[in-house]
This record gives sequence, structure tokens and C-alpha cells, in this order.
Amino acid sequence: AVVAVAVGVVVGSSPNAPQSKFELKGVVEILDTEPVYSSTLLALAKWLSSYYLHPIGEVLKSMLPVSLVKKQKTRYQLTDSGYAIWNDSEHSLQPLIRFLWTRKTPYSLATIKSKMAKWLELKGEKVSLKRLEKDGVIVKEAIDNTHGRDSLWSEKAVEHAESMAANKAPPLTPDQITVTETVISAGFDPLEGRKAYLLHGVTGAGKTEVYLRLISEALSLDPGNQIMVLVPEIALTPQMTRVFSARFPGQVAVVHSAMAPAERWQELQSVRQNQRQILIGPRSAVFAAFDQLCLLIVDEEHDSSYKQTTGLTYNGRDVAVMRAHLERRPIVLGSATPSMESYANASLGKYHLLELMERANRKPMPEIQFITGDVKKSFARKLSTGQRGLAVINLPIDDRILVALQQNLAEGKQAMVLVNRRGYAYYLFSLRDRKAVSCPNCSISLTVHEKSTILRCHYCDFQKSVEKMIPAESADAYVLVGYGSEQMEMFLKEGVPGARIHRVDSDSVQQ
Ligand SMILES: [Zn+2]
Repeated sequence: AVVAVAVGVVVGSSPNAPQSKFELKGVVEILDTEPVYSSTLLALAKWLSSYYLHPIGEVLKSMLPVSLVKKQKTRYQLTDSGYAIWNDSEHSLQPLIRFLWTRKTPYSLATIKSKMAKWLELKGEKVSLKRLEKDGVIVKEAIDNTHGRDSLWSEKAVEHAESMAANKAPPLTPDQITVTETVISAGFDPLEGRKAYLLHGVTGAGKTEVYLRLISEALSLDPGNQIMVLVPEIALTPQMTRVFSARFPGQVAVVHSAMAPAERWQELQSVRQNQRQILIGPRSAVFAAFDQLCLLIVDEEHDSSYKQTTGLTYNGRDVAVMRAHLERRPIVLGSATPSMESYANASLGKYHLLELMERANRKPMPEIQFITGDVKKSFARKLSTGQRGLAVINLPIDDRILVALQQNLAEGKQAMVLVNRRGYAYYLFSLRDRKAVSCPNCSISLTVHEKSTILRCHYCDFQKSVEKMIPAESADAYVLVGYGSEQMEMFLKEGVPGARIHRVDSDSVQQ
């Protein structure tokens, strides 16, 4: 018989063996002299498992820093000889290569696999990626999910941030004093039934200064007190962490996704052994082991990056609130734009609402006007008119916006226009089938590009011209729905004559 040895976690004990249809196995060896999970973290794991309906074993695994090693995705790319085949109509492999690589760009393994299945269905031929790889037609490449983070944390960037002068604590505004005093007077001691604080502060109100004062207070009560600071991944920069390390030199540990596992382990270990008192990190830092955790802070609590969307799907903000509850310590959730759920919790009295409604520098807030789209202008246009290049650009944009842009230009000023989608239109809608034209690989709707001549899948990069996809005589049966940055650019070129317009999106800017 094969003897398999596996690593397990003891989550409880009982004097009697449980009734089970499985054969119980003996413990070979105890690996750790100290428990890896504190009793609070173990309780948190059990809560995570039941709240997010996830097996306890996988929850415990996700909570370990080793599972935080960078995940890599595999893509397949054509080699030079692969490109040659792509271009060679005489080559016997060309039909297959063109089928798998609609465009000469790298495709994910999942996309290639679905196309291979289609090829098998159509031609009855099984495709071997290994074979193609061995023949030098394609090459496998691993891409880093954390692409771009490394440069952010380059030695140069870190050095630059560290050269920033240590900032002295500025005097607090009356609002900041009120807010800080409210938290401090309730204390940091372990207390049953503690409420979370929701710090709602307008942009520039000085929320960070409030965090710094609270940390300072916690450390002055007991130098061994520890503080967890969660920030959205995108905000986690050397400049940001410098604000904390300048105020509390030698006391700050930082974890981020561009970090090598060994380095990360070292930082977490320094927190575990209380050599460092403050831990700053993204959502996964919520699982860090502390020696004497006393205060939790979640900055930008509304941020969507707190949500883990694969494997154990959790919201780091909510887990932090639960952890604070189990630790019986205060937690401060900060935001200029609180999430609906946090604001509702504050309104219901579950959270204690703290407000900073004035800017620390007393500068007035920008004037904001809310203008809805003009419903009288249609959101959908016939494709046929679009193809003939007639005056179809008539976006549902209120005239007041155009007038404001024109006045701005007349005053010689610049303007920034944000559009939430790229491409020309959201999708092409078939009036006959009552549905959007979708990608043959992914069955998601295709985005319209290049003045409504190209359809492109934003998921797998499938691309085909509208002409090939739709016969000219049935063009009348299709409408363009919505608009993206490309159409907005054309709209503004007409609407704001004389303005030099520069469009910045992944279609117009080289990566
Ligand atoms: Zn697709």
C-alpha cells in the first residue's frame, strides 16, 4: 500500500474518535513548535469558511503568506517561423495557425484550448500544442499578473521616497481633533462589543493625519502595541508608506505584490515577533499574524481591490471588521466616498460615524454640477447610416457640457474628459435576433471599433470587420448601441472646433 504523508492543521481536539466512514490516520510529526494560527486567526478562519462557503482547509491555506506567491498565467505566442506560416498561404499548417491565432498576438491557454476544441469539431483533427511547440512554431510564455508593480517598487523609486524629508506632525484642525478624541477616549483596550468607526472625510480633509495621530496614541500607551493598516493595492507606493515610516522610523513593515516571497516572509515575521509595530499592506495583510494587535485601519474602505475574486472570494475590508470584532479592538474605516454598505451600517448605528467635512487647508471644494445624459438624443443609431459616414455622431451629451468645453477653450484653458469605455460603440445589436453580435470564442458581446468598421472581443482579442460579419444588405437590421472613447473623440472634434484633442486609451497609446 502507498503511504501518503500530508501536512494538516489541527483545528480542534476531542477525547473520542469521531464516527466517520474514512479511516483515521495517525500523526507522524508535529511540524511547528508554536501554532501558525493564533486562536483569533483560527476563529477568523472558521468564520471565513462558513460566511464565504469555502472549505476550511483551503481557507487556512489562503491565509498563509506562502500562498501569496505570484501566480503566473501562461500564454502562447507565434515564433518567427510561426509568423512565416501565418503569412504563407502555401503552407499546409496555415489554415490551422490562422484559426488558432486570428491575430498575431499571444493568446491565453484557455482561449487556445477552446479554439482547439472547435477545430476538432470542425475538422476532426486533434491539435497538439506540445507538437507545435517542439516544431518551433509556437512558444510558451509566462506572464506576471503583477506586471507594472515591479517598476513602482524599483530601488530608485524607494530611494527617492526615502529621501523625502521626515514630516513633522502638523497642528490638527478642530474637526480632526474632535474625530481623533472620539476614538482615543473610547480607548484601545480589548473590549467586548466594540463598534467599528466609519471615518467619512472629504478629499483633502486629512484622514491620513488622523490615522497617524491614532497610531501615535496607541504606541504611546504601550510601545508594544501593533497597528494594521490596509490600503488598496494601487495606493500602496513607496511615497505612501514613506509618510508612515518618516513619522515612525524603524517601526513600519510593508508587504506588497511586487515583493519576493522571502522578503515578504521576513516583513511578516518582523510583525509576528513585534520587532515592527505597524504593518501596511493590501487585502491579504488582513491575515497577518500579530503579537499584540491593538488598532486596525482600512483606508479607502470602498475600494474594489479589497475584494478577492478567485479562490477564496472575500472582501478584505469585511474580514478586517470581523477580525477587529474577534480581537475586540477598534477599527477605523476611512473614505471620501464610503461604500453603500458601510454608510448603511453607520446610519443603522452598527458603525460609529465620524465626519471630516472641511478640507485641512481650507481651500474650497471644486464646484460640482450633476448633469444627466440627454434622453431626447438616442443612445442607439442605425449601422447603415454609420457606414456611409453620414452625420451620425450625435451622442446623448447635454449641450451644457459642450458649451462649457467651448468656453474653456476660448479662455485658453485645458480640459479633461473621462469616458468609461474604449472603442467606438458598446456593441452592435441585431434587431432581427434581438441580441448583440457576440464573440464566437467567448460569447460575450463584441465591441465596435474604428468608426464602426471593426468588431473586437475585449476578452480574447478576436477581431473581424463588420463588413465580413454582416452582409451589406442586412446592415439596416443592426444598430450601434452606446459610445466609447473613440466616438467621444470624434464627437468633440465636431463639437469643440479648434480644440486639439488627444485621446489616451489602450487603443491609441502604445503600451
Ligand atoms: Zn472573445
